[in-house]
Order: sequence, then structure tokens, then C-alpha cells
Amino acid sequence: MTAHLSNQEIYERIYTAINERRLPPGTKLSEERLAQAFHVSRTRIHEILMRLSHELVIELHLNRGAFVASPTPRDLRDIFAVRRALERAVAIELSEKFAGQTIAALRAHLDNEAKARAAGDKVALARLTGEFHVRLAEITENRLFSDNLRRMVALTGLAIAQYDSLASSACPQHEHADIVAAIEAGDVRRAERIMQEHLDHVERGIQIPISGSDDMDFEQIFQLRHKLPADDVPPAAKRKKKGASAT
Ligand SMILES: [Zn+2]
Repeated sequence: MTAHLSNQEIYERIYTAINERRLPPGTKLSEERLAQAFHVSRTRIHEILMRLSHELVIELHLNRGAFVASPTPRDLRDIFAVRRALERAVAIELSEKFAGQTIAALRAHLDNEAKARAAGDKVALARLTGEFHVRLAEITENRLFSDNLRRMVALTGLAIAQYDSLASSACPQHEHADIVAAIEAGDVRRAERIMQEHLDHVERGIQIPISGSDDMDFEQIFQLRHKLPADDVPPAAKRKKKGASAT
């Protein structure tokens, strides 16, 4: 059945599996195994892996082969710097272009996100929330926006998979609807600002584990900075205070 898949189709299968986190960051992609699975030559698989490495979603290591990319914290900062620049520009362009109109494609997309959220379908929600950003870029009809955004969104997905496997989506609820509303209202400044804030929230929502060092801030880690002067307050007084505030 897979014997007739074109290079493009194989590329899309691998790309989607990475995007949907069925192939997590760091997974080795053996040319031989992929060639067996897709019933094609290793030469064809090699070409497809080269293309995926240009898209940055896989990394090629000399003599070790291909691996699903594992974005570092530095990569993540770089990705979001580019996303902020691109997506603010997209938000500005769309709000100038569509002021006073309803954008049916975006409304339909928001409905699908809401359905996936209501159904608790985390895989679909992760895919849809990423696609929302690509969809905005596509509507500009500038392929350089949409191609680059697709790449950035895929890398963001890998970073989420790598650092924050519990979070299905880093896009907070309602913020996409707010962006669409600002664009449709033609409120250029607001659309740009809430896009920027949304991306800040997404970036902050990705929990990067801190690596240990000699000068760890124990006060912060153990939340001791705002410690109450408990020793100065007699237990009875504390109880009274608590009781008073509860009424
Ligand atoms: Zn989002």
C-alpha cells in the first residue's frame, strides 16, 4: 500500500508525525528503517531527510545519522524573536486589509479549536493552535510569511514536546479569539499588541528545566523571599486573624 507514496507524501507523513509529537525530539530516524517502512530506496529517504533538515525539524549528525531536532533554550529564544517580528507584521497587515469584515476561515478555525478543547482532544488541540498561526500568515497571501511561520510553529511544537510534555498547547484559551476580533475591527495597534502579548504568554508557558549550578537561588527556589515573620506572631493571634478574615 505504501509502495506508491511519492516523496512529497512520505515527507508529509514524517513531518506530520514530528508535528503531532508521535516522533518526539531526539528520536533517531534511521534511513534503513524508514526505507523498509515506506518500501522505497534509501536514496529517496535520504533526499527527504535532507529536505526536513533544511526545514530545521531534523538534525543531521556526521556519521551518526538523522534525529528529530531537540531545540535548546537558546534556540527557543531565537524562534520566539523571529515569531514576534513576523507575527506582529502579519497582525498589522491583516487588520489593515480586513478592517470591518468577518474572516470566515478564521471563525471556522476558532470553532474547531473550541470543539477540540471541549472534547479534551489534546493532540487535535495542539495541532489546531499551531495551525492558527500558520493560517493567519496564509491569509496575507505572502508565501514567505506562511512558509517561515510553518517552520517556526513546527519548531515551537518540538520545544513544547521536549520541555513540557504535559502541556498539550501553550496557546492560552480565548487569546486567539481576541486576536481575530482585533483584526476584524481593523484595530491595527491592538492587533499588534495582543499578538505580541500572546507570543510572550506562549513562550513563558513552555517550562524549561533549569540546570543546576553553584549559585542556585535557594530563597527563590524554596519561596523564602516573602517569608512571613511567623516567629513574631503568637499562634493564638494568627488563628484569630484567620478566623476574622473568613467571616
Ligand atoms: Zn496561539
